[in-house]
Amino acid sequence: VDHVVLERARVAQRWRGHWDSLRLLTPNWQTRLPGMAYDGPDRDAFMPKRDVVRFLEHYARETAAPVSEYTSVRGVRQLGRGRFWVATNRGDWLCRSVVIATGNCGKAFVPAVSSNISRNVRQLNLDDYRKPEDLESGGVLIVGASASGVQLAREIHVSGRPVLLSVGRHTRMPRRYRGRDIMYWMDAAGISSERTDQVRDLAASRRTPSLQLVGSEDGRSLDLGSLARLGVRLVGRARDADDHELHFAPDLKRHVRLADAKLQRLLDRIDRHIAKNEAAVVPDREPIPDIDVRPGPSSINLKHENIRTVLWATGYSRSYPWLNLGVLDARGELVHHRGITAVPGVYALGLNFMRRRNSSFIDGVGRDAEDLSRVLLAGLRGSVSRTTSSETGAARLVA
Ligand SMILES: Cc1cc2nc3c(=O)[nH]c(=O)nc-3n(C[C@H](O)[C@H](O)[C@H](O)COP(=O)(O)OP(=O)(O)OC[C@H]3O[C@@H](n4cnc5c(N)ncnc54)[C@H](O)[C@@H]3O)c2cc1C
Repeated sequence: VDHVVLERARVAQRWRGHWDSLRLLTPNWQTRLPGMAYDGPDRDAFMPKRDVVRFLEHYARETAAPVSEYTSVRGVRQLGRGRFWVATNRGDWLCRSVVIATGNCGKAFVPAVSSNISRNVRQLNLDDYRKPEDLESGGVLIVGASASGVQLAREIHVSGRPVLLSVGRHTRMPRRYRGRDIMYWMDAAGISSERTDQVRDLAASRRTPSLQLVGSEDGRSLDLGSLARLGVRLVGRARDADDHELHFAPDLKRHVRLADAKLQRLLDRIDRHIAKNEAAVVPDREPIPDIDVRPGPSSINLKHENIRTVLWATGYSRSYPWLNLGVLDARGELVHHRGITAVPGVYALGLNFMRRRNSSFIDGVGRDAEDLSRVLLAGLRGSVSRTTSSETGAARLVA
């Protein structure tokens, strides 16, 4: 099927941004795309972001993907059944199917409470932050304790800036378990590739915060306990702000307890898999250390605490101002069933738990793409027999 990939900047653009120290949190062996997988010597290490960019560039070259770089999509509208007009800064396209693959992490999300904080306090989000040296001296409040928040809390604290970490719902995860990387077990037990129809509450599964994991050279675990031992202070969820005053919910212990209970359930599941399937000798279950959290203050004054920076590590959101197809809900999220929207010919790829738990991971997108291309092809064939036009010419530059 004739197709084109429109990219507003360059291949692997998302990985050209991000903070300097970012590495994959998935082991290198899990960098697998259809027809190409990591084949270097460090299968169990974690690629720094420049190597992820190289890997994706190499993949685009080797697969001769028809990528049109520096082409920003500015409008998509439907002309008739199975006919779409795609306006870009470099000409317009006529096509019969559209796959929206603009990522699960389009832009950093910052909650409304940020707008009540004094203008004298510098506020950054995950798209702004690059390295600790760019921050003013003085303390840093990091809001959010999922993958990004815990990684940045450690790095900024180690740089000599005292860190206060505001913790909400999170997903605790040891780096290694029973002699293997945790991702090995998630993969082997079929947890990573679990389908949407295999979980009890898909909406809740989709809301699960990212894993508290870091890919580092020494393969360490990173959790609230290890951060607290380093000297990072923990407080509850940031609830409200008034100029320099910040108020935190009294829910830190509860969130820690919930995350621990969830982790135990996951490890039980892995244990059941090991008992049933592993032929090789696997070390016994090691104890997961308790996290000793002392309830932090319910409010602080940023000025009194000499906290000059607030870093919002509160996840990412998506935005589709260019999509004029009526496929968004009231919050602006794409409405789809396993990547298929209500408009025939319009599909999504790369969204969180879209068809499988790993849909928004490099390792998951290949199977989703394979499934969806079958659906897409069937749709094109259906409209071909109706319109008797050729099956090629699915995407055509028209202006
Ligand atoms: C901080 C972070 C860490 C991650 N770590 C891991 C990890 O360890 N392991 C892993 O497997 N995955 C990880 N991921 C997810 C991984 O980045 C994605 O699986 C991978 O980037 C593929 O995503 P994608 O192509 O669907 O979306 P993206 O990489 O987000 O790409 C979307 C592309 O769409 C382009 N675009 C957006 N709007 C337009 C427009 N209007 N017109 C044209 N182009 C447009 C953007 O420029 C961008 O290049 C991480 C993500 C983040 C944010």
